[in-house]
Amino acid sequence: MRILCPQCQAAYDVPDRLLAGGRLLRCVKCRHEWREEAVAPPPPTPAPEPAPPRPVPPPIPAQHRAHLPIDPPEPARRGGLALAAAWAASGLVLAGFIAAILAYRAPITEAWPPAARLYLLLGLG
Ligand SMILES: [Zn+2]
Repeated sequence: MRILCPQCQAAYDVPDRLLAGGRLLRCVKCRHEWREEAVAPPPPTPAPEPAPPRPVPPPIPAQHRAHLPIDPPEPARRGGLALAAAWAASGLVLAGFIAAILAYRAPITEAWPPAARLYLLLGLG
């Protein structure tokens, strides 16, 4: 491409590729600087090739639920023991109640006179 200095009209032969993008030029004769726009547009950059479609990964199989055997509830091994303890406690309470009745016969009879007949019925009168 032939370029003329806008100041001194000096002529230069510049390859087009050097003018791509509006290069800043400087005249050798008069030191004038100017920006020369390339007439020919720069070659279009080739469009990047579309990336090949990524292979679709195979579907991940849903994790099989572990069929864990469910442990049956433990049999109440201590049921018998607890039952015996409950019976023992009940017996103790009853025995204590009877002992209290016998021990506090006088105040009970005093507070509740009909209790005397109860004691008589029990052969404790
Ligand atoms: Zn010049």
